[in-house]
Amino acid sequence: MYDAAVIGAGINGSSVVYELTQAGKEVILFDGGGIAAGGSGAAGAFISPKFSKAGELKEILHDAFLYSMEFYATHFPECFTRTELLHIAKDANDAESLRLYKERTTLPLKDITSTLNESVSIDAGIVDAKRMCEALSKYAKFIKEDVETLRYEDSYWVINETFSAKEVILATGAYKPVIQEPYIELRGVWGHRIDVETATANPYSLHQFVSISPSKEGVVAIGATHNVHYHPQNATEPYNIEQGRAELLEKANRTLILENIKIVRDYMGLRSGSFDYMPLVGELVLSSETLANKDIRFKVKKPDYSEYSYYPNLYMINGSGGYGFVLAPYLAKILVEHIINDAEISKRLLPARFFARWVKKQ
Ligand SMILES: Cc1cc2nc3c(=O)[nH]c(=O)nc-3n(C[C@H](O)[C@H](O)[C@H](O)COP(=O)(O)OP(=O)(O)OC[C@H]3O[C@@H](n4cnc5c(N)ncnc54)[C@H](O)[C@@H]3O)c2cc1C
Repeated sequence: MYDAAVIGAGINGSSVVYELTQAGKEVILFDGGGIAAGGSGAAGAFISPKFSKAGELKEILHDAFLYSMEFYATHFPECFTRTELLHIAKDANDAESLRLYKERTTLPLKDITSTLNESVSIDAGIVDAKRMCEALSKYAKFIKEDVETLRYEDSYWVINETFSAKEVILATGAYKPVIQEPYIELRGVWGHRIDVETATANPYSLHQFVSISPSKEGVVAIGATHNVHYHPQNATEPYNIEQGRAELLEKANRTLILENIKIVRDYMGLRSGSFDYMPLVGELVLSSETLANKDIRFKVKKPDYSEYSYYPNLYMINGSGGYGFVLAPYLAKILVEHIINDAEISKRLLPARFFARWVKKQ
């Protein structure tokens, strides 16, 4: 029997494994595709704040950016590179957001030439995505299989009728959910990244229409998440790689002319976003049991989440959108402190908020 089972070995699942194993827990990790087989393996894995005017997501990303920069540099320097990040506005709206961001931010900004479109530059970083997930999860027992069944028996979970664990953490990104609950809806956006050999040297992480990494031994990574319609588990036709490559190169060349290009490798995967753009961290509401409770008034302005029934010892971490590598260390810490020490999770992160909204519409 394991203390905890983590389902999904992307950056979210791996970060949770890291926190749990650091706390001395015996952990089993499942992923049928292998470590970083989903969106995490495709990511350019730039560590950046959100350059926007205001809002909850910008605030949490500011805190997570500071936390994860320190976390990666301190614990995993071999999988992390500090870089200067240059974000150039892609249109008038983006320019206005950048202008306001620069006025309000407390982060130290770099001086850059004023001949560019509105832009901002800061000290940031890049993670080696797959190596980082491997390093974070190395103290767990890894099982390369998909979880098909989860059953709660007495006081523990039985997984695929073979393994057992006291706690289960779902970190399955935008792939088919292991537990179906009507109020949990995640938006999967298919992304494509290419590594290209080029004669053009680039010293920066450049973000404009796509992200371009600094050159490393003559190779730059170009990445974007851009196809909201393609889903690998539902698609009837294969993804058009040639078209994806052409789109990425065309967009990259609008920022930086890349000479003598040879595509070295493609990476693809789904990233998962929530419908209010904030991540989901915490227990899952058991909707059938909660709905059957006649004492709960659902159509109230300020719902009391403590009245709801929850799956026992079952948690999720998901919905990080295009910022999974920025958010994961920060969110995993919050979740594991909750699991072990019962520390409170902010209401704005709890999956229960989606139950409260969904039930009002029923
Ligand atoms: C092209 C691209 C570029 C990106 N660039 C950046 C960036 O620069 N910076 C950044 O911070 N973020 C970036 N992102 C977003 C980031 O990759 C995601 O937010 C992050 O990967 C989400 O991690 P995750 O662990 O939640 O999901 P995933 O990495 O998708 O992991 C979920 C895992 O669960 C597994 N799984 C699913 N179902 C089961 C099951 N039943 N049993 C067992 N395993 C299961 C899947 O195989 C998968 O490996 C990018 C994404 C893409 C696609």
